[in-house]
Amino acid sequence: MYTDLGSRPRCSEAMNDGVLPIGPDRDIANVLAKSLAKRGTKIYAEARVGSLQHSETGLIVPFETPKGSDKIEVDQVLVSIGRRPVTEGIGADQAGVRIDERGFIEVDTNTMLTSLPGVYAIGDCVGTPGVGTPGLAHVACAEAVVAVDHMLGETPVPVDYGKVPWVVYTYPEVAWSGLTEAQAKAAGRNVVVHKHSFAGNGRAMILGETDGLVEIVAEKDGRFSASTSSDRGPANCCTRDTWRSTGRRCPATSAG
Ligand SMILES: Cc1cc2nc3c(=O)[nH]c(=O)nc-3n(C[C@H](O)[C@H](O)[C@H](O)COP(=O)(O)OP(=O)(O)OC[C@H]3O[C@@H](n4cnc5c(N)ncnc54)[C@H](O)[C@@H]3O)c2cc1C
Repeated sequence: MYTDLGSRPRCSEAMNDGVLPIGPDRDIANVLAKSLAKRGTKIYAEARVGSLQHSETGLIVPFETPKGSDKIEVDQVLVSIGRRPVTEGIGADQAGVRIDERGFIEVDTNTMLTSLPGVYAIGDCVGTPGVGTPGLAHVACAEAVVAVDHMLGETPVPVDYGKVPWVVYTYPEVAWSGLTEAQAKAAGRNVVVHKHSFAGNGRAMILGETDGLVEIVAEKDGRFSASTSSDRGPANCCTRDTWRSTGRRCPATSAG
């Protein structure tokens, strides 16, 4: 966003790869990295930021990389390094609602019931298994459907956290769901991967938006496993594909 508003952002990330170090396939993340670099955003990967100092005109940001120490001078610093649940002091423990060591409320994800009968929890305050905690609005919404179904005495379909669609609202946008090629291979899956660049897509050419690609990861027997893409507006496709693969109706797009 800041790149497109005309400032010259400097982005430092402690992890390898710099742009989107966790999440989509590297090929997809690299589309965004290249696009940002082309438009003047400098990315420092594996850069551990130290204590900031004031200068006469702004702020000095020192950082360490495997190549050594460096520093940059900037006007403003925006720190964006994760979120955590705010569950201290709400009386959960006293009421009998168990909270784990990271501060997340423990739930049975089949029903979203907490350890206290009749009390449900959904959303960012809930710790979910396996894939980390997808703190996303549509996950909170899907968990609420599970909770309300259970309250009404129905048999809820639990959220499949391995198939949550993720979207990064950058330009170009990045979206993915399911396993990346590397994750699928690490899980012992026999996969085939198809990549289709927007450079060869007629609609993308007409729009002048040829940066990006769609990647499909499938098992060799043909079962759809994952899709990732990077371009303008892949979010709807990824979300729709994922909802289709889970057999649910997609609430956001009404796609069947
Ligand atoms: C900068 C940013 C960008 C994001 N972008 C996206 C995105 O693009 N796509 C996406 O899917 N998700 C995005 N998210 C995540 C999304 O906002 C959350 O996953 C979603 O809001 C979670 O819903 P929730 O109901 O669990 O929590 P919230 O929406 O945080 O609602 C919790 C509510 O509880 C209230 N509350 C807290 N403590 C108390 C208390 N003690 N008593 C009473 N009320 C209390 C809070 O004030 C708040 O209104 C983003 C989040 C941030 C911070």
